[in-house]
Amino acid sequence: MAKRILLIEDEEKIARFTELELVHEGYEVGKAYDGRQGLEEALSGKYDLVLLDVMLPALNGLEVLRRLRKESSVPVIMLTARDAVMDKVSGLDAGADDYITKPFAIEELLARVRVALKKHTDQVQQTHRLTVCGVTMDTDRHEVTCNGEAIELTNREYELVHVLMENKNIVMDREKLMNRVCGYDYIGETNIIDVYVRHIRSKIDDVYGIRFIQTVRGVGYVIKDE
Ligand code: CA
Repeated sequence: MAKRILLIEDEEKIARFTELELVHEGYEVGKAYDGRQGLEEALSGKYDLVLLDVMLPALNGLEVLRRLRKESSVPVIMLTARDAVMDKVSGLDAGADDYITKPFAIEELLARVRVALKKHTDQVQQTHRLTVCGVTMDTDRHEVTCNGEAIELTNREYELVHVLMENKNIVMDREKLMNRVCGYDYIGETNIIDVYVRHIRSKIDDVYGIRFIQTVRGVGYVIKDE
């Protein structure tokens, strides 16, 4: 799927030219011409990377970056004026991944975009630890811990906890859980999931006094981040 890039740049000529080059490279491009609109777009979660000019009307680029970073880790490359050392330092301090000075050679911009996208993808793939309600799952070690203590789960119990943690705050119905935990060709008791949940509760909830897996009556189960 094409990566989506948001270009926040008020100088239309630069924006147009950059957009054409990015599209030519196979990216999908969204544009915003001021900081306020740009921030709103960036927060939409639709983009894989943001190119952010510093000098912008309505809200300057550094302020856009600060507000964006409160909610999003999307890679950001700042577009700064030549020799604006302060902008570069402030940008990196505020959480920019990289910066490029204007006027830039398009090849350099494209190279930096590729690097930032790759770095981000690698980081996301390295996140193998999930924590909800004080329970941590490390999928590399195939290990679940609470308060630092290992919890012994069977493979199916582990898989059930895994699905629910991956989909935290989303109610999963019994059929979905059964497909994931027992396989699509499983034929057997439909209440098997309830049995596993009871076992997990006896190993986690009852021992640590937490409400880990919650029942949603008539639907299924959910693990909530609260
Ligand atoms: Ca500008």
